[in-house]
Amino acid sequence: MSPSAPGTLYRARYVVGNSGEGHRIIRDGAVLVVGNSIGYVGRAADFDGEYDEIIDLGNHMIMPGLVNLHCHTTGAPLSRSLLEDAGNPAFFMSGLYDYGKFREISPGDTREVTRYSIAELLKSGTTTFVQVGGADYVDVFEEAGVRAYIVPSYRSASWETPDGRKLEYAWDEEAGYRGLERAVEFVADHPVDDGLIASMLGPAQVDTCTPDLLRETRRAAEELGCKIHIHTSQAHTEVGVMLSRHGTSSLEFLESLGMLGPDVILAHAILTANHPDSNIPWCRDEEILRESGAHIAHCPWVFGRRGTTMHSFGRYRKMGVNLGIGTDTFPQDMLGEMKWAAILSKVADNNPLSTTAAAVFDAATLGGARALDRPDLGRLHPGAKADMVFVDCGAFEMVPVRDPIRNLVYSAGKSAVDGVMIDGKMLVEGGRVTGWDEERLAARVQDIADDMWAQAAYRDPLGRSPEDLSPPSYPFG
Ligand SMILES: [Zn+2]
Repeated sequence: MSPSAPGTLYRARYVVGNSGEGHRIIRDGAVLVVGNSIGYVGRAADFDGEYDEIIDLGNHMIMPGLVNLHCHTTGAPLSRSLLEDAGNPAFFMSGLYDYGKFREISPGDTREVTRYSIAELLKSGTTTFVQVGGADYVDVFEEAGVRAYIVPSYRSASWETPDGRKLEYAWDEEAGYRGLERAVEFVADHPVDDGLIASMLGPAQVDTCTPDLLRETRRAAEELGCKIHIHTSQAHTEVGVMLSRHGTSSLEFLESLGMLGPDVILAHAILTANHPDSNIPWCRDEEILRESGAHIAHCPWVFGRRGTTMHSFGRYRKMGVNLGIGTDTFPQDMLGEMKWAAILSKVADNNPLSTTAAAVFDAATLGGARALDRPDLGRLHPGAKADMVFVDCGAFEMVPVRDPIRNLVYSAGKSAVDGVMIDGKMLVEGGRVTGWDEERLAARVQDIADDMWAQAAYRDPLGRSPEDLSPPSYPFG
């Protein structure tokens, strides 16, 4: 695209441009947006092309939109106020196997909580989401105008906990194949092209899929030319199950099936062989991660709140493993995840230099884009998609600004997000979503959760109330 093509020229105190070698910060910069893509990035003084309109953002930073490599938006806010400071000791405090049944809500209510989660993500500067599950709600993502990879989820077994102590796998292999068939149709209908909605195949979890379902997934992905997204190495219980079932780690199991490659995104790869709690130091996970080219979707907060973390983000990066950042369940806050990714890596390595604001910003932009094979996302350069975030450098928590990236990651977070553009359209202005009424959405989510909590004990197989599963911080009264 010619730099002289007309469009809208945005000027700001800082612009996070990209030199081809990586991000760089341009003082007194400008970005030209032409339709849904970017025509110029550089110093405002050096721009000598034409434009239809100029918008001077003043004391702002224009940065690339964040790429969220793993999230579940369709039920996310309903775990809030419940899964923190609580857990079932039988499952090493993981929330994966318990708490599930009573969080099932109607499709209409699911649409509302999905809108809420999308709004939350937008307000934290996210412009691309890898949404796991929720293929039935693709219309909500279309309505929102966000860039999303929808991952239809399928598996051969579901988790059951009939006594709240023992984990059982309820196998239904036919359901797995039917799920794969539906997913193949969905992916074929939502290819990666110039549109906003794309897709990839999503065998749900390494421990809930049969070897044959995974092999069939690999075959289908190659036929479709799509990527694969799978949860792996995410729980202590899973480590034990995979050892007893196959005598291997989860990653060794996936490798033995020929599943791994540069077209695979692994969520979350926390309890790998090098994690001190996994107790499988003889497994070849590091070598597999280094050599397979598979990418990791790192969601630090959901693990951090249960007292564990990756070992470590900084170490994997040094090994050459590509990492992106995801939000998983709640809060849907990419900037918060960047902060936790940096801090928890420093803590895991007992080393303040284990990682940096730049390393987590790279992961949340370039790393995610690389996992998706999208050089037109996660960076601002001519020809990239016009997915941008306007950060208010005068926001209370942002001052004093010397290094706007550090301030955004460590101090300000989403309070500084003023504007979000996706595909050339403004979806957040003045810190508020433009497409929906935030107050109405928040009130609806409160009503939906109130109903859900009231009925929880009837829906839980063991008749447990939310108070039984997760006592409140202080007694009410
Ligand atoms: Zn997940």
